[in-house]
Amino acid sequence: MINNHVTVLEIDGRALKHNLSYFRQKLDSNTKVLAVVKAFGYGSDGVQVATFLDNRVDYFAVAYTHEGEALRKAGVKTPILVLHPQIQNFQQLTKNCLEPSIYNLKILTAFLCYAEENDLHHYPIHLKFNTGLNRLGFNYSDTQAILTKIQGLKYIEIASIFSHLAASEDRDEKEFTLGQLNHFSVIVKQFQKHLTYKPMTHILNTSGVINYPQAQFDMVRIGIGMYGFGNDSQETSKLKNTHILKSIISQIHLIMPEETVGYNRAYISKGETKIATIPIGHADGISRKLGHTKGYVTIAGQKAPIVGNVCMDMIMVDITNIDCREGDQVIIFGNQQDILHMASEVETIYYEILTAISQRIKRAFIFED
Ligand SMILES: *Cc1c(COP(=O)(O)O)cnc(C)c1O
Repeated sequence: MINNHVTVLEIDGRALKHNLSYFRQKLDSNTKVLAVVKAFGYGSDGVQVATFLDNRVDYFAVAYTHEGEALRKAGVKTPILVLHPQIQNFQQLTKNCLEPSIYNLKILTAFLCYAEENDLHHYPIHLKFNTGLNRLGFNYSDTQAILTKIQGLKYIEIASIFSHLAASEDRDEKEFTLGQLNHFSVIVKQFQKHLTYKPMTHILNTSGVINYPQAQFDMVRIGIGMYGFGNDSQETSKLKNTHILKSIISQIHLIMPEETVGYNRAYISKGETKIATIPIGHADGISRKLGHTKGYVTIAGQKAPIVGNVCMDMIMVDITNIDCREGDQVIIFGNQQDILHMASEVETIYYEILTAISQRIKRAFIFED
């Protein structure tokens, strides 16, 4: 089915490359980079992003097995870490050369069993440790049991040991984060002492790299930073926006004073008003919280506020003072400021604005010139 929708999310490959280089330059030259492409590449196009970065990064990470399979089907060759696999996905996982994060003794035992039955050899697995996020991960007290279980086994190999920070962006939580980093170092030392080989180690996400570069270990996991956001305006200003959401004006109405616009007659015009209808709505990820002039779009370089209620497939915007015609281009968001404004009006984080862009919207990947 061809999607020839006029509303399109452009993904800027040049910006992705720029952002990766920005983070690389904060790292030691031998630190590896894992690019996080879960959730369709933070709402962009995970397959296109991973294909584009295939020979530019050391690892990819996705959340679920089927996300990894989609990358392999598209020909992605780089190792792929699956952060949240399930026991029922093991076959799909190994058939696609996907590397599981193993986060408790139950899933470790199940994987070892599966590996033996399927005659795997040195299959790479990644041990995830909980150091305070309390989401997924072994606890330190599991270390001895893990070592006992894997001692001398040839079916698997521990490719890495890793953990995840709970509040790396929050400078008020510095003490807690340093505690997590410390705890992780202790776990790593335990494994280094007892294993005959040396797995990679990693704990930092984007804001970890910004705030705790001393803890880069062997690899860092960059998600949101690659898509253009640091954890403050200064960092963000050095990054380039990767998600550009565009549409066109479908229709323009000239309405008289006291006329209303949209469902529930939520907008009442004060004077003669020019209204443009844009083909994007709450089913596409434009929150209803952006109605009532909370959100805006940009037309001919000027901001046009969203009036009345956001519909499922459309929004109406006030273009009274903008010189434009039906068919003209509309930028829903085109830079980080637009996205940050939207997030603040919706009372969420910019991650969610990006990941909420529905699959109905066409994706267009912009490669380098
Ligand atoms: C999503 C995720 C990341 C990426 O985090 P960013 O803040 O987007 O850089 C890194 N590690 C794990 C385990 C994740 O789930």
